[in-house]
Formats: sequence, structure tokens, C-alpha cells
Amino acid sequence: MGISLKKVNVKMYVLEKAPAKINLSLDVLFKRPDHYHEVEMVMTTVDLADRIELVEIKEDQIIIESENRFVPNDERNLAYRAASLIKHKLKINQGVKISIEKNIPVAAGLAGGSSDAAATLRGLNRLWSLALTTEELAELGAKIGSDVSFCVYNSTALAKGRGECITELPAPPSCWVVLAKPQMGVSTQHIYQKLMLEKINHPNTTAMVEAIKQGDYKQMCQNIGNVLESVTLGIHPEVNQIKRLMEQSGADAVLMSGSGPTVFSMVKQESKAYRIYNSLRGFCNEVYVVRMLGYHQALD
Ligand code: ATP
Repeated sequence: MGISLKKVNVKMYVLEKAPAKINLSLDVLFKRPDHYHEVEMVMTTVDLADRIELVEIKEDQIIIESENRFVPNDERNLAYRAASLIKHKLKINQGVKISIEKNIPVAAGLAGGSSDAAATLRGLNRLWSLALTTEELAELGAKIGSDVSFCVYNSTALAKGRGECITELPAPPSCWVVLAKPQMGVSTQHIYQKLMLEKINHPNTTAMVEAIKQGDYKQMCQNIGNVLESVTLGIHPEVNQIKRLMEQSGADAVLMSGSGPTVFSMVKQESKAYRIYNSLRGFCNEVYVVRMLGYHQALD
């Protein structure tokens, strides 16, 4: 008995990994006439990731599916905006269902939404065989948000401008990262508004870039810094308590990522990572032990 091919509903789909980013350094240089802040950030990825599934649908529309109650399932979702942008720019009349398995904490300073948007751009480029280069995808990403360009590269980079001018760096020396997110979320916009530019203690971005290029873990640990950290600490003292606990438990370096409130620590040994993890249990309910990745990793 033969199978009628017409009855076989072949769905085309792609999977993309959307990893969380951490800031190894974050500096703000000045406020620009267009009201954006001119920044210098060194960012890398860790192996805590959302999983994005893109499935072709017959109707010319974008459907978002996510079971996380903090993530909007409509045009406010950054993945929706990415799909809408690519459809308009390239005049594509096809539809897509975007399913987001959310593993990255929301509003945490880990660029989860930006990474979902970037993964959607990369995935649609494959699903619809658009042959856009990484640079072209990053340019589209910059229209969605300042961190999306970095997330398109999905590796390790120095980001300048408002975050969209990307210079890729080699992957940093491998290490363990413990991420701890206190209960509350933080609005990036609010933290930037509270930042007092004249009081900034600037990190040494050049030294951080050099440490990564040299693969010098010790120098990397010595040069981490984030000018937004003191602002968030002033509003949320529990962030400082997490930092202290991590330091007391033997972390090689401790820093808040982005505008927070997630704090991360770096260690070389797995056993130390779990010592830090255990010290935070009961104090902080979202704690993850992950590897620093720093290079692009495909899912399929
Ligand atoms: P960044 O580090 O880039 O400032 P973040 O980690 O602090 O980002 P996100 O997790 O990206 O913050 O979420 C910020 C806001 O974006 C949330 O309030 C959420 O409602 C909205 N949002 C839109 N789309 C998404 C998405 N796909 N995933 C998570 N949040 C999203």
C-alpha cells in the first residue's frame, strides 16, 4: 500500500540556542545627544540558554508561544519583533510559529530577550534560506535593542557605541560560572537614569581585552568591573549580600551582570563552584552552575 504524499504534512522547522550573556566589563563613557549612553562592554556567553523553535506555518502571521508568565506572547516579545523586522525588510510573505523554552531568568541582566531576538534572526535566516551574513543580521538586531547585535554573534566581544559596534574576541580561558539572581527584576532604563556620570570609577577595558587575547585568567579576574553595579547595589542591598557570600566562599572574581540584579562568580574548579552554589542555597532561589562558553554553539 503506497502512501499519498499529499497527505503527509511536512513541517519545516529549525532550532536555535539563545545563550545568556554576562558582562566581564561594562563602562559608560558619556551621554550622547541622541540620549543613548556611549558604552564599552566586554561580553561573553554561558551555557544557560533558551531554546527557540521556529516552525513554518501556512498563514502569513507570527505566533509566539512561551509558558513563562513574565514573557509576553505578542508583538511586545523581542523574538516577535525580530521576525516582524526580517519579514518587512525582506518582503517575506510567509508565517512562522516561534516557541520559546525560557530557561534564562527574565529582567535579570543576562540579555535573555535580546538573545531570543538574535536566535530568531539567525534561525529565520536558515528557515527561509535568506543567506544574510552575520554582520547583516547584527545590523538588523541593532534596530531591536542595543544587546541584540552582540547576541547575533553569540561569542565573546568588545561592544562600543550604544552596544551595537561589535569587535569579536577569542573565547576566554574556560572556567565555571555561578549565577545567582535575587527575586526582583531590574529595569535597565531605570538604572541608567540613576547613574551619575561624574562619579564613575571606570574599569580598565583595554586590560580586560588584552587579558582575553592572552588567555590570562588571573588578569581577567583582576580587571572585571561594571559601573552600573554601585547603582543597583544602592537600590537592592541583597545584591551586595550575594556578592559577599560568593567572595567568602572562595570565588576568583565576583561581578553583577549588566544592570543586574544577577551576580556571577568565576572559579576554575567545579568543586569550588558547588561550594559557592551551596552557600547561596536558602538565600537566593535562582542559582545556576554553568560553564563560560564564549564561542558560538549551534543546537542542530
Ligand atoms: P538586558 O541584560 O539586555 O538589559 P535583561 O536580561 O535585563 O536584558 P530581559 O530578560 O531581556 O532583561 O527582559 C526584559 C523585558 O523584556 C522583560 O520585562 C520582558 O517582559 C520583555 N521581553 C520581551 N521579550 C522577551 C523575551 N523573549 N524573553 C524575555 N523577556 C522578554
